[in-house]
Amino acid sequence: MALGKTIGLSDIINARGTFTPLGVSRSHVEVQAAVAKALGAYVLIEGMQEAVSAHLVEFSGAEAGTVVHCAAAAVTLAVAACMTMENADAVARLPDADGLARRVLLPACHNVNYGQPIEQAVRLAGGQPNLVGTKAEWDLADLGHALSHDDICCLLLVSSRLTGGNGPDMAAAVALAKDRNIPVIIDGAAQDMRVRQLVSTGADLVILSGQKYLAGPTAGLVVGSRAAVTAVRAQEKGIGRGMKASKEAIAGTIAALEIRANLDIETWQIDQTRKLERFIHEVRGLPGVETFSQPDPTGLPFARVVLELAPEFDAGKVIHHLQSFDPPIFVMDHMVRSNKLVLEITSLREDELDYVTMRLKGLLTQRPDRVLRIDY
Ligand SMILES: *Cc1c(COP(=O)(O)O)cnc(C)c1O
Repeated sequence: MALGKTIGLSDIINARGTFTPLGVSRSHVEVQAAVAKALGAYVLIEGMQEAVSAHLVEFSGAEAGTVVHCAAAAVTLAVAACMTMENADAVARLPDADGLARRVLLPACHNVNYGQPIEQAVRLAGGQPNLVGTKAEWDLADLGHALSHDDICCLLLVSSRLTGGNGPDMAAAVALAKDRNIPVIIDGAAQDMRVRQLVSTGADLVILSGQKYLAGPTAGLVVGSRAAVTAVRAQEKGIGRGMKASKEAIAGTIAALEIRANLDIETWQIDQTRKLERFIHEVRGLPGVETFSQPDPTGLPFARVVLELAPEFDAGKVIHHLQSFDPPIFVMDHMVRSNKLVLEITSLREDELDYVTMRLKGLLTQRPDRVLRIDY
């Protein structure tokens, strides 16, 4: 039985991407089995952390890795690690950061909100966010200027579709901070497919969500230099206690990393492209819709589908109606002002896409009164 039905809810069709309020992702059966098995066993957590670290090293090319509760927790713990390193007294004292370098440089363009403002994740550790540049842009000169403070804990960068504005090449920003011996953290929560690129910037810590495209259970993966990862683990005896990874999360993460290691990305991309083209072909016949594909804006290796509605249709109303079907359909709504719906279909099955096509067809042809701009 579908999960939703067992607790009196309908399962949903998620064409919105790895969106936390919609359940983020669907795990392979191997991952589900690994989680179930861990739940029925006593295990040495330390041994599990060592095992997952070996997998993370293989996966990312970094020196070391660890798992915490989620990526948001990882941001807090990475900042804490840069503040305390392995100083047990400082670890025990956080978020009281008196006497520690606590200024966290964060480009204003990277000051994202993924459900919580990232600044708050910094402040939870005792860090003090210091925005660099403006919402519209920042450059290496802005960063160089900010780096002249003497109480800097780290530079925090975000690699995400949530960032805006224009900034320098990430590797150049990392290099500038490293020149001044300032540690660098990159929050790349949904960027697991680009992890090696992020690690190769030279950042000390790179953060990923285990449950986004990796499709594991909820987990924050932290990879980086051995010293920095050790300092993250040191937080287990401090503020990290409430942000720890469960045994089932670590077991599921290992299973998800094994699946990823065996994934032939080229074949996966070919399958994705075929699915996308078929869907576009189906939807293209609908009246009043221009359909095209658009590369993922953050450089992930797949495209989205954009449906541009004719002016007489109201994208907001279409989105509302899609969500009111049973099962409901969720699409991206960030381009609704330009009368566009955006769909990320990587995790959808063909039968689910057929259902989406059927519902769109119904809305745009049979019941125009529900989706036209004019109110009847
Ligand atoms: C999703 C996301 C997070 C939070 O990830 P969780 O694992 O849900 O805590 C943090 N940062 C960015 C950029 C994200 O996209």
